[in-house]
Amino acid sequence: MKKILSISLMLLAYAYASAQQPQQPPQQQPQTPQQQQRPQGPIPGQVLKTVDATRMTPGMTEIMDPEVPIITPGVKDSNPPSDAIILFDGTDVNKEWSDSRGNPTKWVAKDGELVCVPRSGVIKSKRKFGSVQLHIEWKTPTEVKGDGQGRGNSGVYMQELYEVQVLDSYNNRTYRQGQAGSLYKQHAPLVNASRKPGEWQTYDIIYTAPTFGKDTTVYNTPPRITVIHNGVLIQNNVSLRGPTEYVGIPEYFIKVHGPASLVLQDHGNPLAFRNIWIREL
Ligand code: MG
Repeated sequence: MKKILSISLMLLAYAYASAQQPQQPPQQQPQTPQQQQRPQGPIPGQVLKTVDATRMTPGMTEIMDPEVPIITPGVKDSNPPSDAIILFDGTDVNKEWSDSRGNPTKWVAKDGELVCVPRSGVIKSKRKFGSVQLHIEWKTPTEVKGDGQGRGNSGVYMQELYEVQVLDSYNNRTYRQGQAGSLYKQHAPLVNASRKPGEWQTYDIIYTAPTFGKDTTVYNTPPRITVIHNGVLIQNNVSLRGPTEYVGIPEYFIKVHGPASLVLQDHGNPLAFRNIWIREL
């Protein structure tokens, strides 16, 4: 009986001692030398004094505020988005445009088109702009008359000074920096993406206005223009040397300016425009 009692006491003592043993941590896979050297994210409370890419987390480079403005795009890409200013909606020419002196223009709205009346003078927007995104559609006459610069010539002048050439350049050779989509006498288009006379063509223009320093006869940063003609990139963020000049060196004509009108040229040729909208950048 004594023997049984002593065995029972030994078993109880062993069970008690086992219960007091600390739990062993689970077995971990041994780390490679590279893993041992790589910190596992920032240490709580530690201020990183220098940028250590190995200690960064994705959230450190994710910016939430302010939220990007929400607009509604057009049903088609050629339709104005909700934040665009409509410069011609097919009806009233004189709502947004005037002649060069601020008087009512002789250009007319006909069948939803803004029609240039040859030799009536340019038209200019009543609003003034700096950097913009512009959408404009244009059509030269189906009946071809004239050649070279005398065929469907007009132009879109950014800030009244910098012309994106409008011309019937379908089977119509002229000097390369004078054809449709050229930045007149400064940059030829990358390709000739012209449609046939009588077909509607589109320009989507991204224009960055110049900046000036103390010396107002040079640009601090020059005007820059991107042009997409009928969906094709033809001017890729090119810098202008100065205002558009028919005769002379553009650099000689640089003058300080601020926001200015959009101008459509009357070059003595019949022409039509439509669906003109602009976004200030
Ligand atoms: Mg022109």
